Amino acid sequence: MTAPFRLYNTMTRRVEDFAPADGKTVRLYTCGPTVYSRAHIGNFRTFLFEDLLRRALRLAGWQVEQVMNLTDVDDKIIARAHSAGAGTTIAAITAPATAQFFADRDYLGIEAAERYPRATEFIPQMIALVERLVARGLAYRADDGTVYFAIAKFPTYGRLSRLDMRSIRPGARVAQDDYSKESAQDFAIWKAAKPEDEAAGAAWDSPWGRGRPGWHLECSAMAMALLGETMDLHCGAIDLIFPHHEDEIAQSEGATGATFSRHWCHGEFLLTDGAKMAKRVGNVLTVLDLQQAGVSGAAFRHLIFTTHYRQVLNLTDDALAASSAAVAYIGEFAERLELPETVGATPALAAVAEEMATRVRDALMDDLDAPRALAAVFEFVRAGNAEMDRRGRDPAALARARSGVAFIRDALGVVPPPRPGGLVGLDGTAISEPRGQSGGIDGMDPALAAYVADRLRTRMQARGARDFAAADAIRDELLKRGIAIADSGAGTRWKVVTKVG
Ligand SMILES: [Zn+2]
Repeated sequence: MTAPFRLYNTMTRRVEDFAPADGKTVRLYTCGPTVYSRAHIGNFRTFLFEDLLRRALRLAGWQVEQVMNLTDVDDKIIARAHSAGAGTTIAAITAPATAQFFADRDYLGIEAAERYPRATEFIPQMIALVERLVARGLAYRADDGTVYFAIAKFPTYGRLSRLDMRSIRPGARVAQDDYSKESAQDFAIWKAAKPEDEAAGAAWDSPWGRGRPGWHLECSAMAMALLGETMDLHCGAIDLIFPHHEDEIAQSEGATGATFSRHWCHGEFLLTDGAKMAKRVGNVLTVLDLQQAGVSGAAFRHLIFTTHYRQVLNLTDDALAASSAAVAYIGEFAERLELPETVGATPALAAVAEEMATRVRDALMDDLDAPRALAAVFEFVRAGNAEMDRRGRDPAALARARSGVAFIRDALGVVPPPRPGGLVGLDGTAISEPRGQSGGIDGMDPALAAYVADRLRTRMQARGARDFAAADAIRDELLKRGIAIADSGAGTRWKVVTKVG
């Protein structure tokens, strides 16, 4: 019998067994981005933690129904629209930022959630939730038309964040979405519209006058609309515990009387140079920066998974380089398994693949212990390469090793795609590689392939004429263009090597 899935629960501050209430589908809510500019990679550490989580939940045998909201109306978006000039609507800010977010997500190999609700599409549900809270005496309208949640009326307020309720000043109010634990007070769930809100298309009719939802309320309304009054698991970055998730609990449980989420889990920060990565300190790194630095999605995933999600992770150039090298090592092994002359492997290779899959699975079931899973992958590639050197002929063992690689791809997403390359046979015929079960070649430029094949044929002629200086000159010329070559019994194999990593 396999080990149960265990996951830290922020509510109890313990690692606990976790299973979905219905035994089949995990109803998961993950707080998504505020779409007003390109997300920084600190945000993507959180989304990668949640991506690993959904992969692990599937490994545990469950289906996942993940909802990730897109905050497309809030204080920051309206401020951005306002500073972009008169007549700029929030939609003009959020549409390109949303497209950018999805492109960045895909670059990092993050699986798509099942639903991406936009806050502006759930305004009636948000108004209905505010009405319920007002009807139950948990919220009240202030003179300016803003509706506040009265935290003193919700006795369990502060449970998730372990807030000391003795520090609460009754009746004090906070209208903005961001505030600290030290200033916990009645918070705005519906905000009276200001002229900037109207100008940006961020105001709606409500029983309390024109206004817009507060950020905290948006998540409560969308989560309950799509996952029901009680979900299995709610996640986010650690800075969302207070006030965002505390307020989500108050609004949701205050309205329904039911437990909002059965389990809570939060990911730690990504730090660079020891400082919390956030736009407000001007310490921005984006997925575009990673792309421009030649860091692949697989390499960044590897870097993130070298540290447990509940530990602070420091981003350094050395760590990025080490992860780029690590995934290149995994990728080269994956390519080696697909080479046409590889017809089989040793039975021992099948055994190390089995052991790796068991160890990765056990590590992920144990509170998403990704560093331990990566260690098992590394050991598989190291031992696997040693077994490949023995030139075994067992096709079933080779198939098992290939499914081991596919398993790593599914569970962790740290296998880079095959590098473009090819083989020019001894008779001068050009063959594209890699083939086999990894399928075709992405990004192969036919003109490049034709050029390389032509140069390699010329090199073969030079070697045939024993003009080794000319042959070596062609090798150097290709390397300058980012093409590495290797001679084998089947001909000369080439690979694009500048895009490694
Ligand atoms: Zn949220």
